[in-house]
Amino acid sequence: MPSDNESCDDRGQRSKAAAPSGPIDDELQVAREALLESDERHQTLLDAIEDYAIFAMDPNGKIVSWNAGAQRNQGYSAAQIIGRNFSCFFSPDDIQRGRPARVLEITAAEGRHEEVAVRVRQDGSQFLANLRFTALHDSTGRLSGFSEFSHDLSKSRESEGKYRGLLEAAPDAMIVVDQTGIIVLLNLQAERQFGYFRDELMGQPVTNIIPDGFAERLHADRLRSAAEAAAQQIGAGLELMGLRKNGSVFPIEIMLSPLESMDGLLITAAIRDITERKRSEACLVQAVDELKRSNDELEQFAYVASHDLQEPLRMVASYTQLLAHRYRGRLDSDADEFIAFAVDGSNRMQQLIQDLLAYSRAGNLGASLLGVSANDSLRQAIANLRATIEESGVQVTYDPLPIITTDETHLVQVFQNLLSNAIKYRSAVAPRVHVSAEGRGADEWVFSVRDNGIGIEAQYLERIFVIFQRLHTREAYDGTGIGLAICKKVVERLGGRLWVESQPGIGSTFFFALPRRD
Ligand code: ADP
Repeated sequence: MPSDNESCDDRGQRSKAAAPSGPIDDELQVAREALLESDERHQTLLDAIEDYAIFAMDPNGKIVSWNAGAQRNQGYSAAQIIGRNFSCFFSPDDIQRGRPARVLEITAAEGRHEEVAVRVRQDGSQFLANLRFTALHDSTGRLSGFSEFSHDLSKSRESEGKYRGLLEAAPDAMIVVDQTGIIVLLNLQAERQFGYFRDELMGQPVTNIIPDGFAERLHADRLRSAAEAAAQQIGAGLELMGLRKNGSVFPIEIMLSPLESMDGLLITAAIRDITERKRSEACLVQAVDELKRSNDELEQFAYVASHDLQEPLRMVASYTQLLAHRYRGRLDSDADEFIAFAVDGSNRMQQLIQDLLAYSRAGNLGASLLGVSANDSLRQAIANLRATIEESGVQVTYDPLPIITTDETHLVQVFQNLLSNAIKYRSAVAPRVHVSAEGRGADEWVFSVRDNGIGIEAQYLERIFVIFQRLHTREAYDGTGIGLAICKKVVERLGGRLWVESQPGIGSTFFFALPRRD
């Protein structure tokens, strides 16, 4: 009996055969016609099945027959496809992995093979199909070819097909294991991520691809009831290592969820390759380390430079002062003026260097953080500023402030700096300063120091926190522009933030947020 492919290939030739003569030839002719008729009936039957693509191939995968359903699903007409290899239905990725040959190999060995896979249409578009391959044999038992029976799942109205489609289209690798850790279902992404063909993983222990952590987890979870496991979303966001077929390992994140099925409780695992995420996390940590190192170096430099400059500068300052003292009026008036400039310059430089030293030391946390009464810290700052407050006639008020786990000296320093600025930059109206605090969320306390002073224009609200940046001349307001830079550094060292809101002519409110560490 001719095999499917032979009948298909030979059909054209038979119809063209010369008319036989004689009784034996007549019998042969009758038999041939019957055969032809039966071939045509078969083809008509196959063409009537429109929802399923059915075609036959030779042992190498060359297509020898094609039905109307195949034309509908794949786009090729019989004339276009017969004679071509069925590998043209596979995605480039599958072709690269040698999937077409592998499918034929499995089918030849097992007789039948079924899988869900991506198919490529004639126009290049892809769809998901349920594929069933069967090995065909001739009368002597020799392999004569294969048949493929496929169903386009994307068009399927059956719920199973839809779920299957969903599973296959998922961006993450999905595997379903039973309670003993045996893989019972997986999708295309899982094949790709772990570098296996589906049939190599089905029925295998999950430890083949996730050696540590996963199976142990299942074992632990198996002891609990399904309802309990479901309620707890077992092992959400587990980070483990995946093992590819080629032996390489890669970091994965797994979300496990229980799945009630007819066969009992199954576990679905959505697996994400987090190689990229891990790489960028490592880069970030490295960048932060690098930044910290260069900051430390800069700070060290500022400290050493300002510290070492102090000594020679002290000498310059004292000798110019001596000059001024001894020779005032003994040289000409120009000389007196120049000496006065030199004295003033060296005094200013001494002040700047001291400020720089103070800045580089600011915020160094010595002792561990303790519960501190912010009320007491503020009272201490007010006491330190008593003379200035009395002299300026500023009215300082405050709400009850919280107890906060922080460094007391630093808190006093910040309050003192902000209060002294509020006093210094007062306007003509009766000066008032009010301090308060409020808890913001569960994470932080936000303190505020509000004044009714001269205010700050919007474009300077950031700049004033930069070291030595001032908005006024020394003649208008005394200072070097170090106070807010120190406050910012101290607050940030305490894990907080410092900022200002202001309206020129109305006043400013400086805010600082500190973490609640209780
Ligand atoms: P300094 O007071 O020595 O100039 P700061 O760093 O304390 O240094 O302040 C920087 C600048 O911010 C000041 O020169 C001033 O212009 C502005 N500033 C600070 N506090 C206030 C305030 N309460 N009201 C208005 N301007 C302020």
